[in-house]
Amino acid sequence: MLNIILMGMAGSGKGTQAQLLGRRFGLKPLSSGDLLREEINSGSELGKKVKSVIERGDLVDDEDIISVYQKQLEIKDAKGFVLDGFPRRISQAEKLETLMAELHCSISAVIMINVAVDELVKRIAARFMCKNCGAIYNSLYKSIGGGGVCSVCGKTEFISRKDDSDGNAVKRRLEIFQEESLPIIEFYQRKNLIYSVDGLGSIEEVENRILQVLKNINIIN
Ligand code: AMP
Repeated sequence: MLNIILMGMAGSGKGTQAQLLGRRFGLKPLSSGDLLREEINSGSELGKKVKSVIERGDLVDDEDIISVYQKQLEIKDAKGFVLDGFPRRISQAEKLETLMAELHCSISAVIMINVAVDELVKRIAARFMCKNCGAIYNSLYKSIGGGGVCSVCGKTEFISRKDDSDGNAVKRRLEIFQEESLPIIEFYQRKNLIYSVDGLGSIEEVENRILQVLKNINIIN
């Protein structure tokens, strides 16, 4: 199995790249944010619990995100996974090791997508999504086609995430990444699993940089 973790701050493009890697290699993209938003939309107990935490830009409790991930990792219907947004704390990275061992698999590579904070803030402000299917757009890079129709589902209503349109929530998410998520890099450095790519440029350019890393370490041909 090929299991890749994509790391990066909010707006770094990890969700987009996770989808692309998933499609290219038959891997299942697992976006922690999307999984949590699905819980909120479904009205589950977990969704009710995490809604306000997410809206103010804080991290949800480990046990909550881990329970969601565990369920997904147990469904082995793909050639592997692209983890996007998980782990986000050292404690989650440690738990992931245990989970992977229990499932008899391991992490193949961790790719950190680097983008400067001022660019991230611009990207987050320009991000919106289809109200119906959640497809992500960004007026700076990948906007909706002519006629204002979602290219995935054909619907025409678009919304912004609450945590993208609230300046304090954006600031909090960027701070939390520095404080809680950056130490994960060292954790994976010790395991010789971490690689970093420049996240500036077009979606295709960043994708090519990621593919080059995976080639260089002989994970793909
Ligand atoms: P994202 O879509 O990746 O920007 O995530 C949106 C929000 O979901 C984050 O700001 C957190 O509130 C929550 N979240 C996502 N992944 C995690 C995680 N691994 N641990 C805790 N909270 C998370």
